[in-house]
Amino acid sequence: MKVATEKAHFNVETIRKDFPILSRKVNGYPLVYFDNAATSQTPQQVIDTIVDYYSRYNANIHRGVHTLSQEATDAYEEARIKIQKHFNAEKSHEIIFTSGTTHAINLVASGFASLLKKGDEIIVSALEHHSNIVPWQMLCEKTGAQLKVIPMGEEGALKMDEFEALLSERTKLVFVNHVSNALGTVNPVKEIIKKAHEVGAAVLLDGAQAAPHIKADVQELDVDFYVVSAHKMCGPTGVGVLYGKEEWLNKLPPYQGGGEMIATVTFEKTTYADLPHKFEAGTPNICGGIAFGAALDYMNNIGFDTIAAYEQELLEYATEKLREIEGLKIYGTSGEKTAVISFNIGDIHPYDIGTIIDKLGIAVRTGHHCAQPVMDFYGIPGTVRASFAFYNTKEEIDVFVKAVERAKNMLS
Ligand SMILES: *Cc1c(COP(=O)(O)O)cnc(C)c1O
Repeated sequence: MKVATEKAHFNVETIRKDFPILSRKVNGYPLVYFDNAATSQTPQQVIDTIVDYYSRYNANIHRGVHTLSQEATDAYEEARIKIQKHFNAEKSHEIIFTSGTTHAINLVASGFASLLKKGDEIIVSALEHHSNIVPWQMLCEKTGAQLKVIPMGEEGALKMDEFEALLSERTKLVFVNHVSNALGTVNPVKEIIKKAHEVGAAVLLDGAQAAPHIKADVQELDVDFYVVSAHKMCGPTGVGVLYGKEEWLNKLPPYQGGGEMIATVTFEKTTYADLPHKFEAGTPNICGGIAFGAALDYMNNIGFDTIAAYEQELLEYATEKLREIEGLKIYGTSGEKTAVISFNIGDIHPYDIGTIIDKLGIAVRTGHHCAQPVMDFYGIPGTVRASFAFYNTKEEIDVFVKAVERAKNMLS
């Protein structure tokens, strides 16, 4: 299958050979993995990087004078620079390694506790993941600040005029996801950032769901904070990054105390290390950081434009096929979305559909997708969510659609 882009060499069958897991069987059927929005699969190149690390140069970083420690430190810092270049951050110390998106958001939320006072306001969107709601509620409890919510419309897009009405000089921080994990909606983040900056508010974008599909340029966006998880973009679990503008990272106090984040320690006073180490207390996920760098190399080698064009083809194909099933309703129909389809059939419980198609080797997600407010908006307990990656195929979509039809016939 060829894709009409400038990188016409994209061949999905060749790509699939890089992913050993894609050739396994589940319940006797070839695996069809459509749960990419929860976590992506890992190519051999990244697996090899992990094996190589533990086979050849596993050591603690930044402290040792010995060879292994220096090799591990070099590889880890090279990965930081790869990540910096990928997101076009101005400085490598603006890239902070974290254990993932959730950790990165909590780091920022905890830091803002010392910058906010009663009467200040934080704006979040109605489309958020729970990891994006709870830390702000905790921050509001601590500081007396108030949480405001940008409402969404039926098609799953944010109401921008209502966002503008919420903005005032009381707004200190605006938080939205770049792409919604529940519906796939791509939010108009450039406009959100511009409007928020006009009232002097900082903007934190959750890029967890965008980063596998869209190469964000943090300088071009002029975003203050951007957070991602490696495991949603072909990397391992347990590692991610916080990008922060240097001036903001300097304003925030350290998140955790420990080794690595200090300059000097006495019982009277501790001084903190410079960026990025100020926010990297303790031994990090060294291998994970290096493997994240390898995952970015892998995806950049294919090219994000190629990936996005191919995934849009899959999205359009699957949307068309699913719409042929009577009684099937798709949630999230904004014109700008990534390759995620959330749907229900009549009043069949999504869990039942998920269970039946798992028996046929198909992995999808069912439930509220950590976005209960979005489900409440539609008045449903949850959806079936199929999310595609660049290693999926139209043939897999055909298998999936047939399986959904079969489940529907069994359940209705
Ligand atoms: C997955 C996801 C998160 C949480 O990421 P973790 O890796 O579990 O920390 C946050 N926001 C969005 C939009 C996500 O898709």
